[in-house]
Amino acid sequence: MGLLIVGSIALDNIETPFDKVEGALGGSSVYISLAASYFTGPISVVGVVGDDFPPQHIKMLEDHNIDLEGLQIVEGAKTFRYGCRYHYDLNVRDSLFTELNVFEKFNPAIPNKSKKNSFIVLGNIAPQLQLDVLNQLENPKFVVCDTMNFWIERTKEDLIKVLKRVNVLIINDSEARLLSKEPNLIKAARIISEMGPQYLIIKKGEHGALLFGENTIFAVPAYPMENIFDPTGAGDAFAGGFTGYLHKNRELSFDNLKRAVVFGSVMASFCVEKFSTKGLENLSLLEIHNRFIGFRDLSNFS
Ligand code: AMP
Repeated sequence: MGLLIVGSIALDNIETPFDKVEGALGGSSVYISLAASYFTGPISVVGVVGDDFPPQHIKMLEDHNIDLEGLQIVEGAKTFRYGCRYHYDLNVRDSLFTELNVFEKFNPAIPNKSKKNSFIVLGNIAPQLQLDVLNQLENPKFVVCDTMNFWIERTKEDLIKVLKRVNVLIINDSEARLLSKEPNLIKAARIISEMGPQYLIIKKGEHGALLFGENTIFAVPAYPMENIFDPTGAGDAFAGGFTGYLHKNRELSFDNLKRAVVFGSVMASFCVEKFSTKGLENLSLLEIHNRFIGFRDLSNFS
């Protein structure tokens, strides 16, 4: 049973109060697959880039045991590009531009080997593309979905169709408020759960994350970090760590989902320590394990 990841593959312009990069590797499926690669593999990524996409990024992903048979490279076209600027409060980000480019005509084609019984992460892309992917799958075992304000504002009806078919929706607090039209997060979670997902995870930036399901709420703190350089991709790294851990041990009990939420938070914490994907490129399993223990000790009391 494979792990399939569909989402954006991007070249990002990122500005923080500390530094600025242009054309850096990004995109939801890149962060998700890198984070998941420390738990399980091989991972199949389905996506699209233009012929401006630097080949060294492809090599780096393949070196992480990420299978790119489902990657389309379109000659004469440009890769998806996204630009954002973070405020002094790094929880606040302004999107500066979103150039869909190759995504405007993208038809995701799922390789035959990934069509049956897969675990799948529908990373942040147009909900219509997420539906196209779901329609190609036979008997998906576990569907995790991410989205963002861009799609909630523009294509909410399609998104609601997707939500009826997912096991877990992962969104951040402002997206949860936007989607539910409800300012209180507990009430918002109830409204969103009624839209379809069996479980809901609401990320709250540097304040941790909440897992809702089975009439219970589980809260995980964020790791207290002194060095946050670039929050881009933290949400996707969370989704990758979460799903990678579940895919590795195939146990879908609520207790195991709680552990997966902590591993998601661990991978998000590594992601933000460096610019672009650098924080996820060279980790050791020992570092990941030690930070997991760090999370446990942070709020363990009797
Ligand atoms: P996150 O910080 O987790 O929200 O993820 C940021 C990544 O999502 C960046 O690398 C962007 O390239 C990508 N991204 C931003 N906007 C979109 C969008 N509308 N659709 C797909 N991917 C996007």
